[in-house]
Amino acid sequence: MSLKNSNHYDTIVLGAGGVGSAALYSLAKRGIKALAIDRFAPPHNLGSSHGLSRMIRMAYFEHPDYVPLLRESYERWEQLERDTGEKLYEETGLLEVGIPDGFVVPGVIETAREHDLEIEEYSASELKKRFPQFNYESHWIGVYEKRAGFLRVERCVETLLRQAQELGCSLATEETILEVQEKSGRWWVKTDRSTYEADKLIVTLGAWSSQLFGDKLPPLYLLKQLLFWYPTTRTAYTIEQNCPGFFFEMDEAMFYGFPQEDTMGLKVAEHSGGEIVEDPLAIDRAVDQGQKTKVEGFLKEVVPHATQDLIDYQICFYTMTSDTHFIVDRMPFKNPAAVVTGLSGHGYKFAMVLGEMLVDLVTEGKTNRPVEFLRSSRLAPRL
Ligand SMILES: Cc1cc2nc3c(=O)[nH]c(=O)nc-3n(C[C@H](O)[C@H](O)[C@H](O)COP(=O)(O)OP(=O)(O)OC[C@H]3O[C@@H](n4cnc5c(N)ncnc54)[C@H](O)[C@@H]3O)c2cc1C
Repeated sequence: MSLKNSNHYDTIVLGAGGVGSAALYSLAKRGIKALAIDRFAPPHNLGSSHGLSRMIRMAYFEHPDYVPLLRESYERWEQLERDTGEKLYEETGLLEVGIPDGFVVPGVIETAREHDLEIEEYSASELKKRFPQFNYESHWIGVYEKRAGFLRVERCVETLLRQAQELGCSLATEETILEVQEKSGRWWVKTDRSTYEADKLIVTLGAWSSQLFGDKLPPLYLLKQLLFWYPTTRTAYTIEQNCPGFFFEMDEAMFYGFPQEDTMGLKVAEHSGGEIVEDPLAIDRAVDQGQKTKVEGFLKEVVPHATQDLIDYQICFYTMTSDTHFIVDRMPFKNPAAVVTGLSGHGYKFAMVLGEMLVDLVTEGKTNRPVEFLRSSRLAPRL
């Protein structure tokens, strides 16, 4: 095999899902010869980047330090829309409601104050007047963020991959990566069809990250999550009638949803629950009655005009770190390699910035963005 044969790339991206598609696009924009490999044909519904919508919001209750990345995320998604003419983002606004001593509403308020973000704050009685399509307990409080909404996730993945290829990058789908070796100053990636070589490696394997790189990553665990769609009997839950996205923190669980579109009904899911699973491809794909019952209990209490006639459901995976923050870092190899994983159920909105950072990490060895708090060294190593 010659040193620079046709299977040689500057950079190989392992996984072409939510983050891998954005990394490939970023490589393509910089004119780098790159290949992304995926065992399925993204966008697909077997990983973590499907189910029609992904929330994007700026007043981030999870941690104020995400805000600079969010500002850039909005800009990059909007730029992609302008560059491609695709409609990727719907600005529906977002209503976040919950117990006053909880995590969500106090977190939103704190982040909004720290970063001078515009939000509206409401008591339960004010909420009932402003957003009458939901029910509220008298002690709940709420915040509304106008500049929030959702990304059409499959369309985003598809657009990024198509653009990357139009700009000269390569994509190998339905090809499973079996082994990755660092040898003679190169990366060798063996799949079930071929062997590729590259100078640099980007790892975006989502729920499968530990299967190939378990010994190089902090411990991760997988949560199987279900998304449900239910009909409603009022137009007040539709995008056309300006129904916002919603996120409710109850005493013991968090639920979220997106307004109704076409015949798909209202999308609703529990954020807090989920069954721990080992292998995303070896799970029971039947509807999980426990999660369904909890979601229907939430609808009954909070969404008075949703019916319980399930239209559809999807299964998806949260790849969790122990502190629920992402891993964005170089990997401990001699050759350049970088990873994004452990997005813990809230990472899609950042995909384009994550893609940029991955390319910075393999080409320059660092990124100038403030992401020290996402380095893997903060987490206890695998024992
Ligand atoms: C139910 C649910 C709701 C969510 N809601 C939100 C939200 O509202 N907002 C938000 O910002 N985020 C949200 N997230 C999180 C976000 O969607 C995910 O973190 C993100 O999409 C994951 O992208 P990824 O690239 O890491 O994984 P994936 O998109 O799953 O990509 C990994 C890819 O690697 C490929 N792969 C793995 N192993 C191999 C192999 N051996 N060979 C070849 N290919 C391989 C897979 O086929 C897959 O395509 C949600 C997640 C879920 C599950």
